[in-house]
Amino acid sequence: MPYSAQIGEVDRIRALASYNILDTLPEEEYDAITQLAALICQMPISLISLIDEHRQWFKSAHGLTVRQTPREYALCAHAIQTPDEIMEVHDARTDERFIGNPLITGDPNVVFYAGTPLVDANGYALGTLCVIDHKPSQLTAQQKQLLKALGRQVVVQLELHRSQALLQGANEQLLMLNQELQVRGQFEQRLQHRLVQEKELSEQKTRFVAMVSHEFRTPLTSIQLSVDLVRLHLTDPPQPITKHLAVIEEQVGKFTDLLSDVLILGQIDAGKLLFNPLPCDAGVFVEELIGTFTAAQLGGRTILTSVEGMIQLVPLDKKLLSYALINLVSNALKYSAGDPVVHLSYEPDGITFAVTDTGIGIPAADIPHLFTSFFRATNALTIAGTGLGLFIARQFVELHGGHIDVTSQHNQGSTFRIVLPTVPAQAD
Ligand code: ADP
Repeated sequence: MPYSAQIGEVDRIRALASYNILDTLPEEEYDAITQLAALICQMPISLISLIDEHRQWFKSAHGLTVRQTPREYALCAHAIQTPDEIMEVHDARTDERFIGNPLITGDPNVVFYAGTPLVDANGYALGTLCVIDHKPSQLTAQQKQLLKALGRQVVVQLELHRSQALLQGANEQLLMLNQELQVRGQFEQRLQHRLVQEKELSEQKTRFVAMVSHEFRTPLTSIQLSVDLVRLHLTDPPQPITKHLAVIEEQVGKFTDLLSDVLILGQIDAGKLLFNPLPCDAGVFVEELIGTFTAAQLGGRTILTSVEGMIQLVPLDKKLLSYALINLVSNALKYSAGDPVVHLSYEPDGITFAVTDTGIGIPAADIPHLFTSFFRATNALTIAGTGLGLFIARQFVELHGGHIDVTSQHNQGSTFRIVLPTVPAQAD
C-alpha cells in the first residue's frame, strides 16, 4: 500500500511543517552527518532531503550545490513510501520507475541511490538521509546499519530544533507576559496613588466646609442676637426699623439654612453621615413636624393632614427624615399660594408621605433633574432657593431604603412622595 494512503499525506506535511526547518540556513550538526554518511558509504554525494508538498528540500547537501529539486524527480519521495526500510537502487538507469528522470539522465547523474527514511516519533517519514554515486554500487550490511543510525541522528537533531523553538516561543511569551505585568503593576500603582490623593483632597474639602460653616455660623448667631436685643430695647420701634429688622432676620435665616445644607452635603460626600433609625409612630412624627412651622412661614395658611391604613411602627431616623419632609412642606408653601396637604398612608409593606400643593408646578423637562444637586426648575428661578433641598432629601430617603418621586403639572401643582419600607412583622 503506498505510504501516503497508509498514514495520510496531509498529516505528514503538517508534521514536517511543525519542525519549522524548511528554508532554514545550513547548520554544522546536519552537515557533519552527511559528511559522515558519504565517508562511511564511500559515495561522493549525501543529502538530508525533506519531502515537502511540491519539492524535495535539502537541509544538508554534501557534494551537491543545489538546495532543492521538484518532488516528482526525487528518488527520496519513493524512499519515504517504505518508512521502515532503506531503499537501495543499484543502477537507476535500468530502473523503469526513473526512466526519463532528468536527475539521472543529466546533472547530478544519479546512478546508485540508497536512502533511509527519517521517521519522527509519530511515524511520519519526513524525508531521507541518502547517499548517491555516479556509478552502479551496493552497500554492505554494516554500511546500511550505520546509514540507518545516522538517519536516527538526523531525527534527533530535528526534534531538538523543534523543542528549542518551542522553548524560545514560550520564553518570548513569558517575557511579554512579564512586561505586561510590569505595565499593569505601574498602572495600578499610579491608580492607587491617585486614589490616595483623591481621598486626601476629599478629606481636606470636608474639613474646609465644616470649618467655613462653623466660622460663618458664629457671626450669624450674633447678628440674630443683636436683632433680638434691638427688639427687646425698642418697645415701640418705628415701622421702617421693624421692616429692616425683619429683612435682616430673613437673610440671616436663609444664610443659616444654606450653611447647614452645605455642611450636610460635605458629610454625604465624605460618607460620614450618621444614620440611626428607631421604631416610631409616623402619624405623631408628622404632627410634631407640622407644629414646628412658624406663623411667618405659614403666612396665614394651614397645613392639612390626612391618614389612611392601619397604623404601624416604622424605623425612622427622625433627624434625617424631618429634614426631607420639612423641605417638601416648605417648598409646597414657597411654590404655591394655597394650603399644602400632607397625606400619610400605611400599606402592608411600606409607608408613604405625600405632600401636595396647588402651585406653579414643574415643567416636564425639568422633572428628571429635580433630585440632583443645585438644580432649579426653569419656572422657579425668580423665587429664592439653592436647589439643594431635594438632593439632600433623596440621600436621606435612600438611606432608609426608600425612594422619593414627584408627579407634577406645570401651573397646576405637584405631589412629592416619600415611600419607605416597613420592617416585616416578626413571626412568634
Ligand atoms: P430650592 O427650593 O431651595 O431651590 P429644592 O432642592 O428644594 O431647592 O428644589 C429644587 C427645585 O425644584 C426648586 O428650585 C424648584 O424649581 C423645584 N421645586 C421643588 N418643589 C417644588 C414645588 N412644590 N413646586 C414647584 N417647584 C418645586
